[in-house]
Amino acid sequence: MSSIPKTQAKAPRSRKRRPDLDSVYSINEDGSRNFLHPADVRGRWQRRVQVFWTLLILVYVGLPWIEVAGQPAVRFDLPGRAAYLFGLSFTNQDFYLSFFALSGLGFALFVLTALYGRVWCGFACPQTVFMEGIYRRIERWIEGPRNTRIRRNMGPNDFDKVWRKILKHTLFLGLSYGIAHVFLSYFIPVHELLQVIRSNPAEHKTAFGWSMFFTGLMYFDYAWFREQTCLIICPYGRIQSALIDPDTIIIGYDEKRGEPRSHGVDEGGDCIDCYRCVEVCPTGIDIRNGLQMECIGCTRCIDACDDIMDRIAKPRGLVRYDSERSFEGGEKRSILRPRVFLYLCLGLIGIAVATLSVHQREPFGARALRARGMPYTLEEHRIRNLVNVHLQNKRTEEATLFVRPGESQGLPIEYLVPQPRVHLAAMEDQQVPVFVFADRKAFDQNFGFTLLIEDSLSGRVEELHLTFRGP
Ligand code: SF4
Ligand code: SF4
Repeated sequence: MSSIPKTQAKAPRSRKRRPDLDSVYSINEDGSRNFLHPADVRGRWQRRVQVFWTLLILVYVGLPWIEVAGQPAVRFDLPGRAAYLFGLSFTNQDFYLSFFALSGLGFALFVLTALYGRVWCGFACPQTVFMEGIYRRIERWIEGPRNTRIRRNMGPNDFDKVWRKILKHTLFLGLSYGIAHVFLSYFIPVHELLQVIRSNPAEHKTAFGWSMFFTGLMYFDYAWFREQTCLIICPYGRIQSALIDPDTIIIGYDEKRGEPRSHGVDEGGDCIDCYRCVEVCPTGIDIRNGLQMECIGCTRCIDACDDIMDRIAKPRGLVRYDSERSFEGGEKRSILRPRVFLYLCLGLIGIAVATLSVHQREPFGARALRARGMPYTLEEHRIRNLVNVHLQNKRTEEATLFVRPGESQGLPIEYLVPQPRVHLAAMEDQQVPVFVFADRKAFDQNFGFTLLIEDSLSGRVEELHLTFRGP
């Protein structure tokens, strides 16, 4: 595919500037972008992450197509203020559950980080999965390996360079369009989304606007912004130093074994300063400078260095997964440390509360709302209170609710329920009025009364407690 002469294909390695701990390597001293071109790498970790990424992408693309209880396995219905998760349905009244669920998942991520560093970033974060798993591969396929890419980018805008750029960016745009629509399919059911795609954009301006926005966002991120998302925008890298300790398993360089760096195979430490671990790094850092915020735990430097060690007949693992304590030659690491125990407990509390709350949820919601600015109405002989009852079916099947009179804790009252039987479609909500009357002469103070809401499917009855108001 490349028209670059083989004699030119190896770009000279720049020794002018090396990654250090004082600056971000992807930003030049004058503030301009130092566009990174990570070298290709193969090895056992790359095979593992590729398998894992493929599974994740299949799950991501497949979930909206799978139906559970008549709804997509995962769907967030924003206009309907509802969410569907594997057969469970949630309304806006269940929003509080997201606090416990998210805090549970957040602390689970903390536990993972305390045990295995940024394994989430390297293995499961969509930024890494799509960037390294798809976009980088397309770039490599069209524009060739690292040195060829660098040389071509520095060269003139000839036909060979231009057609490759056009093809690459066309594919990037198409891919971004696809990923954006998969993302949208978590909000709009797939069959509706396909109709929207096939129809005139003017008929679906909002959906079309969002699809274009997300396509643009994906293209901007994966075609240009790339590792800057991890370095500048993502907060997770910044808090990792607070989550890990010397027993956390991280990707690191064995300084004791590698130093002093030798340029000949038989002298000094095992590191021959070949720079390969830096060339393959997608964030442009030198792992030999120690653990850095920019490291996304992608494992590329492990495979790169193992390959070099194989070639110079030294044991693998100069760059490897290990704990800081072990790299420093310390004793055996401990797994259940106080911080892991704490994160684990907090995570379990969040997940347990969310799970319990989900199981104890009522299948319907009922709230009584007073008519605004009108606590009561005076009739000739009676006082009238108007109560609007908001009923919500939280299930993915139809339901019938009955609004029935309850009891008075004061004067005898009369109820007028114009619509005592309320039929609700799946996840539908409705507001029904209830009029309550008490004798005007006998009234001397406000008093309590109840309304009963009965669910025909489950037989559950909810009591609404209200106050009868008068002059
Ligand atoms: S790949 Fe290994 S040997 Fe080469 S510079 Fe990195 S740590 Fe040293
Ligand atoms: S230092 Fe190694 S693990 Fe970290 S981002 Fe660079 S290549 Fe990936």
